[in-house]
Amino acid sequence: MSRKIQSVRGMNDILPDQTYHWRHLESSLARICSLYGYEEIRPPLLERTELFKRSIGEATDIVEKEMYTFIDNNGESVTLRPEATASCVRAGVEHGLFHNQQAKLWYLGPMFRHEKPQKGRYRQFHQFGIEAIGWPGPDADAELQMFAARLFEEVGISSVTLEINTLGSPTSRTLFRDDLKEYLHRHEADLDEDSRRRLERNPLRILDSKVETTREILKDAPRLTNYLDEQSLADFNRLGQLLDAAGIAYRVNDRLVRGLDYYTSIVFEWVTDRLGAQGAVCAGGRYDGLIEQLSGRPAPAAGFALGIERLLELMQIEGNTVDAEVADIYLATLGDEAEIIGVSLAETLRNSELKVRNHLGGGNFKKQLKKADQSGARFALIIGEEEVTQQVVTVKDLRYETGQIKVPIDEIGAQLIGMLRANAGNPEYSKFEN
Ligand code: ATP
Ligand code: MG
Repeated sequence: MSRKIQSVRGMNDILPDQTYHWRHLESSLARICSLYGYEEIRPPLLERTELFKRSIGEATDIVEKEMYTFIDNNGESVTLRPEATASCVRAGVEHGLFHNQQAKLWYLGPMFRHEKPQKGRYRQFHQFGIEAIGWPGPDADAELQMFAARLFEEVGISSVTLEINTLGSPTSRTLFRDDLKEYLHRHEADLDEDSRRRLERNPLRILDSKVETTREILKDAPRLTNYLDEQSLADFNRLGQLLDAAGIAYRVNDRLVRGLDYYTSIVFEWVTDRLGAQGAVCAGGRYDGLIEQLSGRPAPAAGFALGIERLLELMQIEGNTVDAEVADIYLATLGDEAEIIGVSLAETLRNSELKVRNHLGGGNFKKQLKKADQSGARFALIIGEEEVTQQVVTVKDLRYETGQIKVPIDEIGAQLIGMLRANAGNPEYSKFEN
């Protein structure tokens, strides 16, 4: 036998027992988007490499070492998208979506980063994101957090907290960066290797370092807070007031910088301590310069991206996933005539939105009913010779030992719906409730 072909490392199959949870989450997300007036956009997975270099920044981890970039048959450098904000802006500029300089967009789909695969960190992963383009904030920034808070509430997650920071105006950020660089240069010998490498090109990222010795050095480093311009400070304070008014708790974390260059002023992360090292669930901020950077007419903008895998993991940990989908009915028949009646009955029941698993492949009743049990279906319907003669169907409750009843074929649909309705409170059957 030839060698088995396996999936590429860090790229997961999402199997049927999971896709069900994905679809539930996806429909919640789409619904919340419409509550806030966001419209869906679906950019391609492949973009010109230049797009990410110009937006995310050449000296970032993503562009330096995480992108799946290759030369296509035309000799053009293309990249599997590592994130989607750049694509949203590119598409918006290309199609004139920002013609009145305002748009609210959302997306959901796979992203690709060549990182070290581990729990909560994959090479193909999925992000849901929203982008509010055209509003300078901070009311728009506050609304992003209300969206996120509602989303967590809706999916039953309570272990996430909001951290916010502001990077200030480009000018104040440059002043800070220069001073930080100078300070860190004085301690260069004691910095970890990664930080030393970042020192010239992206010193702000060092603030994010998890290395203990580097963190020690950072304790006495210049603080961004002391460099902020008046407008940024006022916006940041106003954001705090709006969050207070909305009852959204937050923590100011002045070490919070983001790994992408396009962020300006307000940045934030929703973090949890329930996912080990991969604690960031949702992250974003303001990127007022990006649209101009990508050749659009300047417009302020802000948004966030949320990791679907981490969110689902958290939902599972907090015990808030819905029950997997099971059939309402398993239909077993024996004999040619019974089979014909069964096939047409199954279709009639499906017309009433009942989920029917018709036994395929024949076999005796014992075998069929074993399959019915395994299927997890609520009821088994049995049609044999006797039922055909009497024009009835035998109904067996597979969950409770309530014995079997015989129901006339033409009444079976209504009867079953009534019996399923008796399961009030079970979301699976809510569609049958009055
Ligand atoms: P991290 O610090 O965990 O690497 P990040 O700052 O690179 O995250 P963003 O680029 O802001 O993440 O993406 C937003 C969200 O996407 C993250 O908060 C996380 O939930 C998710 N995410 C990012 N990278 C991965 C990955 N490799 N695998 C799974 N989810 C990811
Ligand atoms: Mg990362």
